[in-house]
Amino acid sequence: MRVLGTAGHVDHGKSTLVRALTGIDPDRLREEQERQMTIDLGFAWMTLPGGEEVGIVDVPGHRDFIENMLAGVTGIDAALLVVAADEGVMPQTREHLAILDLLEVPRGVVCLTKIDLVDDPSWLALVSDEVRELLAPTRLASAPLIPVSAVRGDGLDDLRAALAGALKEAPLRADLGKPRLPIDRAFTIAGFGTVVTGTLSDGSLAAGQEVTILPDAHRARIRSLQTHKARVERAVPGSRTAANLVGVEVRDLERGDVLTLPETYPSTRVLDVRFRLLPEPSAPLRHNQEVKLFLASAQRLARVRVLGMDEVPPGAEAWLQLVIDRPIVAARDDRFILRRPSPGATLGGGRVVDASPARLHRRMNRAALEALSRRAQGSPGEILVQAIQALGPGPLRAAVERAGLGDEAAAEAIAELEGGGRLILLGQGGGEARADTIVVTREAWQDLTRRLRDVLGAYHAANPLRSGMPREELKSRLRMHPRAFAAAVETASREGLVFDRGARLALPEHQMLLSPAQNARVEALRSRFRASPSTPPSVKECLEEVGEEVWAHLVESGEFVLLTAEVVFERSEYEAMVGKIREALADGATITVAEVRDRFNTSRKFALALMEHLDATGVTVREGDFRKLGRAAPEGGGGA
Ligand code: GDP
Repeated sequence: MRVLGTAGHVDHGKSTLVRALTGIDPDRLREEQERQMTIDLGFAWMTLPGGEEVGIVDVPGHRDFIENMLAGVTGIDAALLVVAADEGVMPQTREHLAILDLLEVPRGVVCLTKIDLVDDPSWLALVSDEVRELLAPTRLASAPLIPVSAVRGDGLDDLRAALAGALKEAPLRADLGKPRLPIDRAFTIAGFGTVVTGTLSDGSLAAGQEVTILPDAHRARIRSLQTHKARVERAVPGSRTAANLVGVEVRDLERGDVLTLPETYPSTRVLDVRFRLLPEPSAPLRHNQEVKLFLASAQRLARVRVLGMDEVPPGAEAWLQLVIDRPIVAARDDRFILRRPSPGATLGGGRVVDASPARLHRRMNRAALEALSRRAQGSPGEILVQAIQALGPGPLRAAVERAGLGDEAAAEAIAELEGGGRLILLGQGGGEARADTIVVTREAWQDLTRRLRDVLGAYHAANPLRSGMPREELKSRLRMHPRAFAAAVETASREGLVFDRGARLALPEHQMLLSPAQNARVEALRSRFRASPSTPPSVKECLEEVGEEVWAHLVESGEFVLLTAEVVFERSEYEAMVGKIREALADGATITVAEVRDRFNTSRKFALALMEHLDATGVTVREGDFRKLGRAAPEGGGGA
């Protein structure tokens, strides 16, 4: 599941656009509707052309409410930057874009809206150029630019397609088994009690779970969960999630608190971070300067300790230690923004390198700085995991390349990950990882098998008479590379998670339900076998009687034993014959095909097929025209 976030100057048409795309009014506060201005975060959702549902966080564009905007944009998968065509780039267009870039939001779409207000095409071209120029030095440099009129509806389909295209490239959120929900709203619903909402990350939540809300460590239980106003038993990473809680009052909660499982995250008052000061604030960032810290939905006052230099010059990067007024929940690699408290201005941003440093570092200590720099890069294993997460299931070679690891570091990384069980090698039942081995992280594998089984389960529910889902259909539903898909199916089948029927795949627990008509035909077939057990109908006749799918099902169920492409016996008859042959061959006796034919009162064709089958399964051994008991000779027949 994914989330989009809007961005752009006040009155440029963000909320109107969200309404036009989703039919939902994101301005939910009465004051917002009266003033026709977004003050706080708004939420909506829609289904994109590919069928995927996405959440939308609509943020306020007015400079007075930029701090509310910050609570909404961390955790989004893609940005929808809105620029009014009649006005062009304005101050909060720039500020929002700078924030998206500092937060490293990797992709987005730019919407040039209100084109109905512009008659002059050269003006539109001018504004487009201005926007392109603004985007050029940012991560959104290659974002598509879509002209739209939200009131007339022009361009909305193009916009939806562009959003779907941008999100298609976004990797699915990893399930690290460590869910955290940074709370952006907490409220009461009469008769329900406390509800909190946020964008879930790093793990799933399930109804019934005991949770804790940090930093005050309030205990609660999840009574129910919703995503996009629909009840779900399980909320997955990357989804807009509302949790109805038992055992905690709204007055004890606030925006910025984090709902998580007990003993999963510590809260901290000190963070080690890598920080970039924007070039615009002409003043340097001083040691001990007071700043406002924005991380996920939280906002705190903090004091800056500048490490390794006296102060941070505009445009420069630096190591900082942030000493925060009140504990916060953070993890390595979390993005954050720092602002000057008053007059308010965005200073810069960066990422967390150590979420719970052991101590305050001495400011000019070289060893501490080197340790931070190593930590920022991560161990070879961590770097490789990040690369694999970003790429999804694929050949090891591609992940090593993306991670930029040399041979030695790559070997070290693989050993580290395999040892910890964090890396799954797909499509090979053991053995060394090779360059072309398809690899996934354990979390991604759990996620993938869950999706695989969900899709199969839905298929079985919709097609109870089918033995399974066509392999190709499943592959395209999962949108996987063919080799990665084949390897994943092989491993899932070995782990007993799916049943591989060749052209079709099924859940192992799937029981095919025959229709009354099919049942009648199966009964007719059974009586034909009973009528002449030792000269039964051919496979071709069986297929004509019951159809391919039911026939495959009957063979799989073991009711019929295929000896060759043409010859088949009912299992009980087959087993009786094998028993008799074994008896006849006791004490080193031999038998010929002609004798078998006569003994069972059948034809040479059936007798030959039976004996060749028994040779192949090791029940008998052929010596010229004779057969004797083979070494394998398992009890109860060789099976098919
Ligand atoms: P926001 O502050 O960015 O959320 O902007 P709003 O969505 O509240 O829109 C600001 C004003 O622009 C409202 O009066 C809208 O009716 C108007 N508006 C929004 N989109 C369009 C559009 O495509 N064409 C025209 N003519 N007006 C628009």
